Amino acid sequence: MNQQETAALKKLFQDHGYQIVGFNEPADVYVVNTCTVTHIADRKSRQMLRRATSSNPSAIVAAVGCYCQVAAEEVLAIPGVNIVIGTQDRARLLELVEEVARRKQAGEKYPKISIVRTLEEKPVFEELPLPCSGERSRAFLKIEDGCEQFCSYCIIPYARGKVRSLRPELVKERFQQLLAAGYREVVLTGIHTSAYGKDLPGEIDLVGLLKQLLQLQGEFRIRLSSLEPAEITQELLEVIASSPRVCRHLHLPLQSGDDEILKLMHRPYTTEGYRRLFEKVWEMIPGVAVTTDVMVGFPGETEKHFENTYSFIASLPFRGLHVFKYSPRPGTIAAGLPGQISPEEKEERSRRLRNLAKNLEEEFARRFLGHKLVVLAERRIPEGVGCWEGLSDNYLRVVFSLPLGVPKPQGSFVSVYIRGLRNGRLFGEPVFEEH
Ligand code: SF4
Repeated sequence: MNQQETAALKKLFQDHGYQIVGFNEPADVYVVNTCTVTHIADRKSRQMLRRATSSNPSAIVAAVGCYCQVAAEEVLAIPGVNIVIGTQDRARLLELVEEVARRKQAGEKYPKISIVRTLEEKPVFEELPLPCSGERSRAFLKIEDGCEQFCSYCIIPYARGKVRSLRPELVKERFQQLLAAGYREVVLTGIHTSAYGKDLPGEIDLVGLLKQLLQLQGEFRIRLSSLEPAEITQELLEVIASSPRVCRHLHLPLQSGDDEILKLMHRPYTTEGYRRLFEKVWEMIPGVAVTTDVMVGFPGETEKHFENTYSFIASLPFRGLHVFKYSPRPGTIAAGLPGQISPEEKEERSRRLRNLAKNLEEEFARRFLGHKLVVLAERRIPEGVGCWEGLSDNYLRVVFSLPLGVPKPQGSFVSVYIRGLRNGRLFGEPVFEEH
């Protein structure tokens, strides 16, 4: 989500004649789109801001996003930071940069402006420009913002506020703009994507939106970002199973494979429920890639709880997992729980799960040796003449080589017959046929 929003901010500046340079190059304006999901994210946000202010002390420095939303005063107090915006008003960034520039020209030494609106009432859906340069084949489309689930460890509901959805007609309009810009895969993203439409009751939900998008003309595929396991419906699985234009990929955050810990986390499912869902997904959508998030070192997580998580994950054919170390977020329930786990223990548990992840990834990829996968060609790679790399709908990296004289496939779908697996990537040969 932050990547998508950062790309949107770049577009905002580009549309007004600014030139975007790398963060290490001298610039007149620096923008740090901050994150607060862990204490390390807070620290990195502060470090980036300090780097910006010291690279060019006369530059305008703006901090925006989640960390600013929850710690506005702290960010504004960093010397050299001129602008602080939370998670609702980033579209006003340019206007504020220009105001700071005017005030500086008028002789004001350290102008400071902060716009961090409360999220308690009805937060607005932040309208940012659609980042569609067409440079890549995959685009992210933000359809939802906010979360009201309040998992006990999570700061995001405080940084993003209540669920709000982009109206379906606007989603369709933006989707078509992305297709017109040359994108062939659109990832529907949100903070709590499966809650799409919760604020538009009786009007639409995620399944309804998907059905509307699937009626659009053109060669494309849709990928869904993270969905809450307890909100996966039979109807949603039927839509995914019946349309080759919806990627066979579900990211279903598990967080823990132990019921006691899940309860403490305020996650609304049990391991048994998750297993049943996984089995159903696996049965209804052949070849589906299920990826997940798992957190280690939640307060009170004993070795036994961790072993339960490890063996639960090892018992299911996940395509991959993202492993996170629990980080106490001030203001959340879990931050005040007893039994905080040492950093060394968290690291050790994380290491064990990352090793498991490698094995699971390899096992999943191996299932497709001797099969055909439809790959969206992304980029040429230097590993051989005519070598290309892309992503299959079920989230596998595939390398293939093209015979001489075949036009560049960038941004198009290629059927690839899979022959080998090396270092986590599948290798194959294109099969030329109509899709
Ligand atoms: S569902 Fe839970 S983990 Fe996800 S954003 Fe909401 S509160 Fe955070």
